[in-house]
Amino acid sequence: MQSSRHGVCVLGATGSIGQSTLDVLRRHPERWWVESLGANQDVEGMLAACMEFMPRVVTMADEQAAMRLKVALKAAGLLTEVLSGEEGMETIAADAASAVVVAAIVGAAGLRSSLAAVRAGKRVLLANKEALVMSGALFMAEVAAHGATLIPLDSEHNALFQCLPAIDVRTPRSLAGIDSLLLTASGGPFLDWPLDRLLTVTPEQACAHPNWSMGKKISVDSASLMNKGLEVIEAFWLFSMPLERIKVVVHPQSIVHSMVAYADGSVLAQLGLPDMRTPIAHALAWPERVPSGVAALDLTQMSQLTFVPPDMQRFPCLRLAYDALRQGGGAPALLNAANEVAVDAFLQRHMGFMQIPALIESVLDRAASGCAQTLDDVFAADAQGRALANEWIHKRGVVV
Ligand code: NAD
Ligand code: MG
Repeated sequence: MQSSRHGVCVLGATGSIGQSTLDVLRRHPERWWVESLGANQDVEGMLAACMEFMPRVVTMADEQAAMRLKVALKAAGLLTEVLSGEEGMETIAADAASAVVVAAIVGAAGLRSSLAAVRAGKRVLLANKEALVMSGALFMAEVAAHGATLIPLDSEHNALFQCLPAIDVRTPRSLAGIDSLLLTASGGPFLDWPLDRLLTVTPEQACAHPNWSMGKKISVDSASLMNKGLEVIEAFWLFSMPLERIKVVVHPQSIVHSMVAYADGSVLAQLGLPDMRTPIAHALAWPERVPSGVAALDLTQMSQLTFVPPDMQRFPCLRLAYDALRQGGGAPALLNAANEVAVDAFLQRHMGFMQIPALIESVLDRAASGCAQTLDDVFAADAQGRALANEWIHKRGVVV
């Protein structure tokens, strides 16, 4: 951001994106200070961040963790204020002392605080894609109504943001002259695995992403290609682009982070090493540029950059996400909820990897998708998706 220093609130501070954000902020004390931090249960991680960044206020979603943190902060001689619960998260997200909010909580748990930041008219750096998937129309309407500045952190959407014509982020984008958005996908660790081998995938294998180091949930989503499905929905809302003009292309090297194809045949791409500090630094400083700590890209070290179409047969989650978006209303919230429950069950070895799409398809088939005009509608769809998903696991889940 231009001119003077600005306070930053990091929601999901102990996670992968949260820690990468703190690393960028650490390099630029002259531009930003850490005003507040929020996390769920990781008291040790939060204590370490408090000792280094000295935020004025922090929140733990988990009440017990908040109590333990209070004791630990006192023992360390820090006067940091400690809040708790979802309410605490919304309070720091909307606090006037922060001009910037980094929304990096994983899953539906981040929706209320991401929205609180939007409604307070902040510069919101959005990593929490699930929030947008669940409530896209509502979320974007709130961005417009409250004059928030929404900048995507997801590497693909940040790349698209960089390749699209420069705009005032407070006005809707003009699609004139734009042919399509090309979202790149690494294809995950199982890109070339035959279908029968996918039946035996373990959580450890699914979390071992070839290029990116990330939280467990998004790692599994990347392996199933649900992450790309969620990102198609995210792009649809962020850039108001018709679904048939959002295309996915598998690019296993994760160097081209996405592309915009124009009517005149030009294709603009954003390239960089697979390190989230690049989009984070871009979104923090936009429209300026600052060092992120990421090494320069040496193209002579890249033996090849390849691009192939996605295989919807072996990775049905991508198709399911397109279907849910076409269905509209509460269907994307149902899809997201079913996926969150399925990923959690897979990580706990209560069901197999290829049961993830089977569960989601069954939930989408059985649920009444309803509408998603209000936050209550969205959470009703979320609750229905979770209930049906848990029912499915109860009846069908197998321990692998
Ligand atoms: P992570 O699991 O590493 O971290 C999640 C953070 O959210 C932690 O700080 C945790 O304490 C907090 N959290 C979890 N449950 C919570 C709850 N109920 N209430 C409040 N806080 C809670 O996840 P991550 O990889 O950093 O991903 C965060 C978000 O960013 C996800 O939406 C993900 O899709 C998105 N994202 C991540 C990456 C990446 O490289 N890691 C890239 C693009 C987008
Ligand atoms: Mg991404």
